[in-house]
Amino acid sequence: MKYEIVIGLETHVELNTKSKIFCSCGGHSSAKEANDCVCPACCGMPGMLPVMNKRVVELAATAGLMLNCNINKYSTFDKKNYYYPDLPCAYQITQLNHPICTNGHITIKTKDTEREIRIKQIHMEEDAGKLVHEGNFSYVDFNRTSVPLIEIVTQPDFRSADEVLTYLRKLKSMFQSSGISECETGAMRCDINISVRPEGSSEYGVRTEVKNMSSFELIEKAINYEAQRHIDAIEYETEELIQETRRFDEATGKTFAMRNKETEADYRYFPDPNLMPIVIDDAWLEKIKANKPIILDERENLYREVGIGEKEIAMLLSNHVLMKLLDDTVQAGADLKTASSWILTDLIGLLKRKNIALTADTIAPAKLARIIELVAKSVITRATGKKLLDVVVEKDVDPDEYRIANKLDMQQDSGLLENAVRKVLQENETMVAEYKAGKEKVFQALIGATMKELKGKAEPSAVVEALRKALLR
Ligand SMILES: [Zn+2]
Repeated sequence: MKYEIVIGLETHVELNTKSKIFCSCGGHSSAKEANDCVCPACCGMPGMLPVMNKRVVELAATAGLMLNCNINKYSTFDKKNYYYPDLPCAYQITQLNHPICTNGHITIKTKDTEREIRIKQIHMEEDAGKLVHEGNFSYVDFNRTSVPLIEIVTQPDFRSADEVLTYLRKLKSMFQSSGISECETGAMRCDINISVRPEGSSEYGVRTEVKNMSSFELIEKAINYEAQRHIDAIEYETEELIQETRRFDEATGKTFAMRNKETEADYRYFPDPNLMPIVIDDAWLEKIKANKPIILDERENLYREVGIGEKEIAMLLSNHVLMKLLDDTVQAGADLKTASSWILTDLIGLLKRKNIALTADTIAPAKLARIIELVAKSVITRATGKKLLDVVVEKDVDPDEYRIANKLDMQQDSGLLENAVRKVLQENETMVAEYKAGKEKVFQALIGATMKELKGKAEPSAVVEALRKALLR
């Protein structure tokens, strides 16, 4: 029998804020040692009250806008109660009944399919701390306690590991490009809900959850292993499937049971009386919208409209540094299509040759825009532009100062061009004779000789024209 895999995802994303969600401690990335970024509030000392970080609301709403969600004007926090040493309050503050964003969607394209993934909700919550095990001792580090997270919950709409990875890559690119999250290792973690059913069936099979996965490579392995385990259990009755929470073991490549799946009742959720409801009025929402979060689908359409190739579009969408550089270069006055070609062909080629990684500081967008402008206005040739790009990336010089100091401008004086052509033709009589006898190939050599005579500072098309004219005589 053929089986269909059904997957739903819960993705936790650490938000890029200066302070934690309910206190003024810095984020754990600023911590140098264990328990560096802690205060009585995030350590759960009696009598300390949480105070909402406004920025968290704005970033969560921005994520919602990017995922086509309803941004709810009214949302509230709940306490999720459980005891674990890395959770000093013995409850986690999260959103259950009234999350900030609901009912979104995102389209993903893989080699085989295009599918719309429905987003059930996005809610805000705090992270837990971290346990460190050494020998016979376990230590607790509260630096990560109360670091803000959003959890994005999808409907069970994925049908393969490939679709899941495509979705996660898209989220990562979106969140990085809009500054919602750095999405570094560990800052994006998934719980994978998975079941299988006979193809064509509309009922769901027994569902298991693989917890806390952050590496894309391991997510793929875990999904494939778990799906096969379900299929074997149904097909060959190797074991009885039960609804449970599992962990993936990297060493063996297998999942193992952690505990029976808790239900909502196990957590004794109740509204958090310490936090006021979050009310987002129209003015605030407009302000959030005005920051123009990058909607990747809109980007993709825009790139296609101006005629950027499919391969190049894929490159841009998967790399937020490239996308930002293109954005800023266009902001600095360059044409979108032209700038994309300079960045994706010339700049990337240059970086590859020199084995340099692209970062936000590789080239100032204004300088790149100026080089593009100099070529467009025929102040310098395309070839000189490439060389100038090389120097600007390497030494961060000012394009105008450098081109003037090194006399890189094109020979605008047609007299100079004609003199050069005359000289080349006189010095290469044999080639001229061959050309006139019909040997077209030597024409290239004559262009090369003329360019050399002009030290490369002429537009090739002008050289071709002058040569053709002179050879007709
Ligand atoms: Zn704190």
